[in-house]
Amino acid sequence: MGSTPVRVRFAPSPTGFLHVGGARTALFNWLFARHNKGTFVLRVEDTDSARYADEYVEAVYRALRWLKLDWDEGPDIGGALGPYRQRERGAMHREVAQKLLASGAVYECYCGSKKDEEAADESENDDDSSESAGTDGAIERAKPVCRCSALSDAEKTSLRAKGVQPALRMRVDPQRAVIVDDLVRGHVEFPAGTIGDFVIVKSDGGPLYNFAAVVDDHAMRITHVIRGEEHLANTPKQLLLYEALGWEPPLFAHIPIILNEQRRKLSKRDGATFVNEYEALGFLPDALVNFLGLLGWSPGGNRELLTRAQMLDEFTIESVVKHPAIFDHAKLAWMNKEYLKALPLDELAERVIALLEGRASIPDRIDPEHVRRVVSLLHERAYTVAEIVDQGAYFFTRGAVAPAPDALAKYCSTPEAAERLKEVRAALAEAPPDFDAPDVENAIRGLAQRTGRKAAEFIHPLRVAVTGQAVSPGIFEVCSILGREVALERIDALLARLSEQRAVGLERSR
Ligand code: GLU
Repeated sequence: MGSTPVRVRFAPSPTGFLHVGGARTALFNWLFARHNKGTFVLRVEDTDSARYADEYVEAVYRALRWLKLDWDEGPDIGGALGPYRQRERGAMHREVAQKLLASGAVYECYCGSKKDEEAADESENDDDSSESAGTDGAIERAKPVCRCSALSDAEKTSLRAKGVQPALRMRVDPQRAVIVDDLVRGHVEFPAGTIGDFVIVKSDGGPLYNFAAVVDDHAMRITHVIRGEEHLANTPKQLLLYEALGWEPPLFAHIPIILNEQRRKLSKRDGATFVNEYEALGFLPDALVNFLGLLGWSPGGNRELLTRAQMLDEFTIESVVKHPAIFDHAKLAWMNKEYLKALPLDELAERVIALLEGRASIPDRIDPEHVRRVVSLLHERAYTVAEIVDQGAYFFTRGAVAPAPDALAKYCSTPEAAERLKEVRAALAEAPPDFDAPDVENAIRGLAQRTGRKAAEFIHPLRVAVTGQAVSPGIFEVCSILGREVALERIDALLARLSEQRAVGLERSR
């Protein structure tokens, strides 16, 4: 590479939301670019209109922005940096294809049906979410040679006259081998006979992935192609194209496949697999970036919590491993918890509010000061922002909460429980005006002392009343944060429910 400035690209196909595997590829490219003070380019590979959707292009941007993986170049789209779009580069693809045709490196092929060509496109341009293509040169079958390479000009003219449009097929000498010297996988040899003559432009003129990627990578002066291992089997085709065009190929680094804990392909059943799902679950982008960074790369020394700055400082391709990376959900949850704990409370409160505001019915108690208090109570135990929102649901509304049936059965099934609750109500009504946690505690402990009962006899039904649950964080803090008015209202609501239940019970037993 010498002193050539590093230029890398992330080239997603917008055929779905951004998969965590794709995000890991983007991250490794970004880290490599930043570490080497190079350029990170985003190129959306949207030539396959049958499978591509605008909504997914948007989803990819959104996911990259959320992960804060900023790219450096692209057209200006309403004041923001857009990505390069492959479909806008058709003129260049056509020009290069003609050059290859003129040199004899490719020939017109009249035998392929549209269906075959599309199938070729799909299997070539698989993204990280799809099945792994054969790797290590393990393409077993020898590919048949297309007979169109021997068509005479007269035969071609007559086929054209019948309205048959040719695809363009690359001529591959079956006797040779193609060597990929991969920065991660090392020396990998592909016998060309197993590659076969391959289509580069479909009969409708649409360029296929291997061809378009080579033309664009060359035009964008990409120095390193860092991508998922499933593309290793595409690399010999791409190298043959570079060779035929007399272009210097970039260096290749195929990063390891990501598997689930059973060492199988990650699937929906393993939990969230798309970046937007992690956003919706309230994961922090920094935690996800940290986790993805360690899928196939390690800074050494068993270090797990690394800031972005540390990662980009230490990231090298030499320390990317060959063996599959295991997506360990428990580790990601742990990491997110660590990041949550370290987040300033104000920022965490903002995230909680944003999540609450995104709900179909926005709760009525989400003013920042209140949410900050809630967050300070819950953030040490939660694994995600969504957990804070769910575990703390009773804080974000003023109204009564429906008690969970198990909590009712466990702590409120006897007439004594209702009696204790009435006594707690009276004690809390008289607690000092600030109603802070020690005030609540003194009120309840004082009551226990006066009546000679255990504090727990009061605390359990009180907890069911104010949280609706059998377990919660410290009840004195909970009551204080809810405030006296809400706490008393909820106690009244539970007392009313208990007396109603009792009345129904008496009625039945008559
Ligand atoms: N569009 C391809 C994908 O999404 C890009 C592969 C490459 O980086 O060359 O997998």
